[in-house]
Parts: sequence; C-alpha cells; structure tokens
Amino acid sequence: MLETLDRAVGGERLIGAAAIARGANGEPVLLGCKCTACQKEMVPPVSVCPVCGGEDMREAVQPDEGVLYSYTVVHVGPKRFRRPLALGYVDLDNGVRVFSHLEGDTFKIGERMKFDVAIVGRDPDETDLTGYVFRKENGQ
Ligand SMILES: [Zn+2]
Repeated sequence: MLETLDRAVGGERLIGAAAIARGANGEPVLLGCKCTACQKEMVPPVSVCPVCGGEDMREAVQPDEGVLYSYTVVHVGPKRFRRPLALGYVDLDNGVRVFSHLEGDTFKIGERMKFDVAIVGRDPDETDLTGYVFRKENGQ
C-alpha cells in the first residue's frame, strides 16, 4: 500500500487526501484504484466497484496528465475554498475521468492538464487547505 499524504503529513488539512500518495521519488502522485473483476479504474480509491460490485479493489497510480473534458468557474460557495473556484473533469491519458480543482485563470476544453498538489482554500482558523489540482501543462 502506498503512503497517502494524509498518513504522511499529520495535521495538514487535505482535500481529497485518499487520492494523493507519495510516489517512489517522494513526489505526490494521483492515486486511484482498479477493480480486479471488471478492470475498471477510478479516482479516488473506493472499496467497492461502482460498476460491477466487486470488492477486490487494488491501488493504481494514475497518469499525471490528461485533457480537460469540462469545467466551471464558481463565484459563490463554501467560504473555505478560494473564489472564484474552478472545478472540472480531466480525462487522464489512461481514460479515467477525474473531478478536480483547477489552477489557472482561463481554461479551454481539450487542453492538456497536469496533476499537482496546491493550496485550494483556507479554513476560518487560517489553516491552508491543500488538495490535488490540475493546471495547464505550460504552468499558466
Ligand atoms: Zn468492477
């Protein structure tokens, strides 16, 4: 079992912590799972396959790049998240679709996106909230 960041970093507030693990080189990786019965992969990891009901789910590190399938920019919502808040679906290079915070000012459906971990908000006690995000591959 990979070390997820919620187990690695005590006390830090992570959004989507079950889907963030440390890779072999210590860098964060996107963690999903694969059903051994139907081979379906998904993010975040779950204990029961929503496709076939299988219960033998194996951890599966996901590709760190994909294509923006759809997104929205939200100007109202939970105070703890940064606003405007960009959320979207990214189709990873293995076909898995991931719902994620997005980093950047503008987005275009179909553009290449890259996985990262970043600050996505702040709790009322001023503690930063960290989560997985996708940003444009060129870093903008
Ligand atoms: Zn399955």
